[in-house]
Amino acid sequence: MANPEDFEFFLYEVKKMIAANPVTSTALPRFGTAMLVGVLGKRGLMPADNYRADAGAYVDALSGERLADEFLVRRSGCWGCPIQCGRQTKTDKGEGHGPEYETIWALGSNLGIDDLGAVVELNYLCNELGLDTISVGGTLACAMELDELGEPTGVRRGDPASAQAAIEALATRSGHVGDRMAEGSRSLAESFGRPEAAMQVKGLELPAYDPRGMQGQGLGYATSNRGGCHLRGNMVGFEVLGTPKLVDREAVGGKAGLLIVAQHLGAALDSLSLCKFSSFALSEEHYARLYSAVTGFEIGGQELLLAGERIWNLERLYNLREGFTCADDRLPTRLLSEPNARGEVVQLEEMLAEYYRFRGWTPEGVPTEAKLKQLGLERYLV
Ligand code: SF4
Repeated sequence: MANPEDFEFFLYEVKKMIAANPVTSTALPRFGTAMLVGVLGKRGLMPADNYRADAGAYVDALSGERLADEFLVRRSGCWGCPIQCGRQTKTDKGEGHGPEYETIWALGSNLGIDDLGAVVELNYLCNELGLDTISVGGTLACAMELDELGEPTGVRRGDPASAQAAIEALATRSGHVGDRMAEGSRSLAESFGRPEAAMQVKGLELPAYDPRGMQGQGLGYATSNRGGCHLRGNMVGFEVLGTPKLVDREAVGGKAGLLIVAQHLGAALDSLSLCKFSSFALSEEHYARLYSAVTGFEIGGQELLLAGERIWNLERLYNLREGFTCADDRLPTRLLSEPNARGEVVQLEEMLAEYYRFRGWTPEGVPTEAKLKQLGLERYLV
């Protein structure tokens, strides 16, 4: 620790900010991430049935309040964190960790399941098998849609038993469907000649936020270097929660600029191994001061964001070298052409052009020489 006294002082400041923010002081501690079921579900932003509907009808059955009332044993979380967003839960059949909001969506509404106890137990099963619940849920939802299209996969809507059997088949690669599901939704859908049934970007299953009602979130999925991920520049803070400020979630213009800052901050936080939930209450300046106190290297918030930009560009160059192009900065056709209940689709082209321009990339999404020189990465020019 370079400057323990500075660190103690900034820690005191940071804890004050976390205690003053309603998301980090109340919503996350009381309900965990499951608080988002109500927040997003009531606004038509939580998907259902493999993104073919919204989860409004599931909100009461799958809510964070129900999870707290009927299944919660105690809060849990990471060492030293004042938020303690984790949930230790139990059912008649056992006890375990979770589920998170994403899991309630992935193994609940996205599979047409409204039995919260069954969702909790499917979550335990994935935990025991070491499976990511978003990817599993997205893949099972794809299998469910394929089954409804006449391709026999055995995954039925609203049927926890068929979901359990499918998870076990996926984990053990049983039969053609289990073997393909183990490779994810894209591989499964392509094997049946129906790629449009896979809700994925760059091979990664989409998470629990319908971007048709959150334009910036859609741009985030399309441009995330690791595919359809909500943790590489989340716009839920800007577009729904109002942290650090609330913007019109249906607007298109200007979203690229906000997303780019969020992506840079996300990359910097990943690099610092810090939890992103703290960013509901804190800014890049707080993180920079903590970093300076710990390391003795004096930096400001802008330098931290610049480090995030270097990371983002380096990842992009890696992807380009491995054969990705701007054609991979796409969304599933459903999100571009099948409107939600409010008649919205993601207006990706307009945002993407602005995004490349703001990033200092070519219209084909390639970092320019000038941008790489500015970042000190010119030796990686493609
Ligand atoms: S560090 Fe993050 S994930 Fe861990 S308990 Fe705190 S808020 Fe939750």
